[in-house]
Amino acid sequence: MDPRSVIAIDGYASTGKSTLAKMLSKHYQIPFVDSGALYRGITLFALERSFFKNDEIDEYALSKVLESISLKFGFETGELYLNGENISKKIRLPNVSDHVSTIADLTIVRAFLLNQLRHMASENGLVMDGRDIGTVVFPNADYKFFFIARPEIRALRRHEELKAEGQKINFDKVLNNLIHRDQSDVNRKIAPLRKAEDAFEIDTSDVSKDQVFALLLEKIDSK
Ligand code: C5P
Repeated sequence: MDPRSVIAIDGYASTGKSTLAKMLSKHYQIPFVDSGALYRGITLFALERSFFKNDEIDEYALSKVLESISLKFGFETGELYLNGENISKKIRLPNVSDHVSTIADLTIVRAFLLNQLRHMASENGLVMDGRDIGTVVFPNADYKFFFIARPEIRALRRHEELKAEGQKINFDKVLNNLIHRDQSDVNRKIAPLRKAEDAFEIDTSDVSKDQVFALLLEKIDSK
C-alpha cells in the first residue's frame, strides 16, 4: 500500500472502528485520526464553559469562541489535547457521550472540524474513523470501510471497556446512549451517517478483532 493512501472507516457507534484503525495505523506505519474524539473535545469544552442550558446548546456563545479552540493529537501517543490540556480520559465520560450528538449536529462545528480533518491528510496518508469520512471528509479516499454490528453486542463491548477504565455505569445506560447517538447520526441533515456507495461493509458482531483485521488487510493489499 502506498503510504500516502487515505483509509476511511465509518460506521455505527462502538463497532470497533477505532480499534481496527489503530491496528492498521501500526501495520502500515501511517497516522491514525479518531475524528469522533474531536467532536467529543468540543463537547467537553462547551460543557466546561457552561454553554449547555437544560441540555440545550447556546450556539451563539460557542460560535464566538470556536475558532480559538485548539485540538491537537499528541505525536506518537495519539492523546488529545484541548488548549494544551490532555483530555483523552475526560472525553470518554458519560456526560460527554450524552451531549456529543447535539454538538455533532451543529453546522458551525462540522465546518470547523471538516477543515481541520482535511488538513491532516494534506501531505500524508492516514487512517481516519468516524461517521462521514468516506462520504464527506474524504470522498476520494483510497480505501473505504463501513462497520455495522448488533446494538447489544456493541453495548456489551463498550460496557466492558468503560468498566476496565474504572467507570461505574450500567449496561442499559450504555445501550440507550448508543441507540440515541446512532439515531441522531443517521437522521442528521448535514453529513448523516450512511455507507458510501464504494465502501466495503463489515459486520463485526460475531467475529474477533483479529478476524476483522485479516479481512481489512486482504481487501487493502489486493486492491
Ligand atoms: O466515534 P465516537 O463514538 O467517539 O464519536 C462521538 C460522536 O461524534 C458520535 O456519536 C457522532 O455523533 C459524532 N461524530 C460525527 N462525525 C464523525 C465522527 C463522530 O458526527 N466523523
